[in-house]
Amino acid sequence: MADRLQAVKGMNDALPPETAKWNFVERRCRAVLESHGYREIRTPLCEYTQLFARSIGEATDIVEKEMYTFDDRDGRSLTLRPEGTAGVVRAYIEHSIAKSEPVSRWYYIGPMYRHERMQKGRYRQFTQVGCEVFGIAEPTIDAELCAMLAALLQDLGVQNVTCYVNSLGRGDDRTAYREALTAYLEGHVEELCEDCRRRLGQSPLRVLDCKVAGCAAVAANAPAILDHLGEASRAHFDGVRRALEALEVRYEVDPHMVRGLDYYTGTIFELRGEGGTLGSQNAICGGGRYDGLVEQLGGPATPAVGFAMGLERLALVVPGEPETFEPGLDVFLAHHGDEARLWALTTAERIRRLGYRADMDHRQSSMKTQLKRADRLHARLVLVAGEQEIAARKVALRDMASGTQREIAADDLDAEIKRSLA
Ligand code: ATP
Ligand code: MG
Repeated sequence: MADRLQAVKGMNDALPPETAKWNFVERRCRAVLESHGYREIRTPLCEYTQLFARSIGEATDIVEKEMYTFDDRDGRSLTLRPEGTAGVVRAYIEHSIAKSEPVSRWYYIGPMYRHERMQKGRYRQFTQVGCEVFGIAEPTIDAELCAMLAALLQDLGVQNVTCYVNSLGRGDDRTAYREALTAYLEGHVEELCEDCRRRLGQSPLRVLDCKVAGCAAVAANAPAILDHLGEASRAHFDGVRRALEALEVRYEVDPHMVRGLDYYTGTIFELRGEGGTLGSQNAICGGGRYDGLVEQLGGPATPAVGFAMGLERLALVVPGEPETFEPGLDVFLAHHGDEARLWALTTAERIRRLGYRADMDHRQSSMKTQLKRADRLHARLVLVAGEQEIAARKVALRDMASGTQREIAADDLDAEIKRSLA
């Protein structure tokens, strides 16, 4: 027997009714982001590999061991995007956007790929919705992003989410901190995992983001970067906190938080769901400032800040069974005989043009089967037509909620439907 075909491990199909909930969540995301002035950008699913190596950082989990990298037929190394920011920044530079607009607010929605160990809420293809703001250095925009996320989650009915913030400081603050951190970590080398030991010299901050228990324990007592911030970074972070308070965002400072990508500078934040369904995959969304990245990738020096949110994790915490997000059917047209089927076919088209959802059975099914189907589709109204009714230009209209049925003239149909569905 041939092998059973299966989807790639860690890459899931989304089937109805799940997709209905997905679409609802996506629509709400788009609406909230667009209400804040964000415009959509779509970049390719894959990019030249060096883009990710240069932006995310060589010594990160993502670049070291999680990327789907392959040579295309021209022998160039391509990588399925593991995150969205790198491609967006590449596009921002490639199209010289800075020349035509001083501030850009962009958002994207789409799949990302990371070869990770699979768990609930952790997949190899997952969907992110993200925002990037280019051209604003002021701390108020950092806070506005957090407030927008909090508002979005509230809009979606998600409860018990806390916004955690920290600052990674600027380059010079980071140098001082790296020294202090490296000195501390060197005293605990024995307790660190192999990866962290190896990266210690190159990228000590990575240890703070390691999920291995031993490393997490060491990280918990590490010196905090907040104590090593210079004047400018501290002023910026104070500005973020003041704005968060003015916006009444519930937040906490997490002095040990770092992020899994190297390009962050200054403010970083994460929204985490407390308790509930997500388990250890409780980070719904993460982001922060990356003031150096545009220049680092060959563009003009441009302050920037953004975030990415995992839509699978978000959908897990949005209340409501998937079925309840399905739009349901307004009218089902049941018919008997060839004439009646053609009548149903054309009438369904007309009803759809009135703005209603209409469906019919194209097979030669019995009336009983058709009515059962109408019921399963949760149709609000069912039209029943046989040869005689069609000849007499009449049709039966059944209201499924009340179970009442009455005969109406075909010419009054549109008005009757409108009245019944109002
Ligand atoms: P985590 O700490 O959970 O690994 P991360 O720091 O790697 O998350 P980011 O790279 O900042 O996450 O991505 C932002 C968001 O994307 C996360 O908060 C999460 O909701 C989602 N996400 C990241 N990786 C995955 C994955 N493998 N499967 C599903 N969602 C993911
Ligand atoms: Mg991760």
